[in-house]
Amino acid sequence: MIDIAIRGAQIVDGSGRDRFVADVGIVGDKITQIGNVGQANVEIDGTGLTLSPGFIDPHSHSDFTFHTNPDNESSVHQGVTTEIVGNCGFSSAPLSEVSVPFTEKRLKNYAYTGEVTWRTFGEYLSEMERMKTSTNFAFLIGHNSLRLAAGIMGEEKVSDDQLKGMKNFIEDSMEAGALGLSSGLEFAPGSYSTSAELKDIITAVGKYDGIYASHVRNRDSEIFDAINEFVDITRAGGVRGQISHFNVRHDSNAPQNAWRRAVDIMENAQKAGLDITADTTPFREGIGAMYAILPRSLVNEGARAIAEACANPASRRELRTQCDRYWRFIHKGQWHRVYLEGSPNFPELQGLSFPAIS
Ligand SMILES: [Zn+2]
Repeated sequence: MIDIAIRGAQIVDGSGRDRFVADVGIVGDKITQIGNVGQANVEIDGTGLTLSPGFIDPHSHSDFTFHTNPDNESSVHQGVTTEIVGNCGFSSAPLSEVSVPFTEKRLKNYAYTGEVTWRTFGEYLSEMERMKTSTNFAFLIGHNSLRLAAGIMGEEKVSDDQLKGMKNFIEDSMEAGALGLSSGLEFAPGSYSTSAELKDIITAVGKYDGIYASHVRNRDSEIFDAINEFVDITRAGGVRGQISHFNVRHDSNAPQNAWRRAVDIMENAQKAGLDITADTTPFREGIGAMYAILPRSLVNEGARAIAEACANPASRRELRTQCDRYWRFIHKGQWHRVYLEGSPNFPELQGLSFPAIS
């Protein structure tokens, strides 16, 4: 007797063959039969539905939330069974005593009330095993987290010891099972890093045949430089490369035909022998923290300074001219393209566009 039978679903098996209708039999956690399936303990009618292997989401941030939400239902409902996390330069390991508070703060923002007990990547993965999440995970090491662990908080010059420290963290994490390195070069402290730093530390990833996934430095007026930098880093490390959320927003300051031309840069690198791919978001909107539309110098001054600057009409006018990123359209006044995704203080406004709110 088999455990589960799913009957009459249209099967798309991911091999490239045409879809077909058949029954599927499962014993334990394995598919044992496709075709004629005998009686099962659990019968599921799949008529009119599509059955496929679980999808792999190559760009997930579920590592911010899985401590409090190990069921990960929003991923499962999309058919995702494996997620690559640690993206955009942010991972929860490896940690040093200096960097623990940063990770603790981020996880607390996502309702985590426990303690950050792990330090090494291996300890972090053991913690994951203990939690028993519903989806499978593979982990990147975040460059921002790496910098913080090595005690590099901002613009300061990176010492040889700190470079060596970051490479040691990478090697230790790759030994423990990390996939590779991610960077988030629009976010502090990674935004302060030089290409030379990244080209140096990526060699530690190359030793383990790892991957470099990058939220590149700019997807606005500097997009070509950003993609070229990505290609150079990938080449320097002898690693496989993944350009994260490779999008260009409408009516930003990106050059004419920017996305197509940026893809050409990627394709030329592929022709030259580099193993580079990209992922993109399948919807018009992206998500982000609202403060990120403000210049970094103001954000660094903290919430009170931001509130004061925004309350002053003259400085507000000035702020409108200070954006170097792909959400520059907001500064041009296109607020109908911006929705409030979440606000604990104003839950009744969630999901509304800004013109609707005002
Ligand atoms: Zn990102």
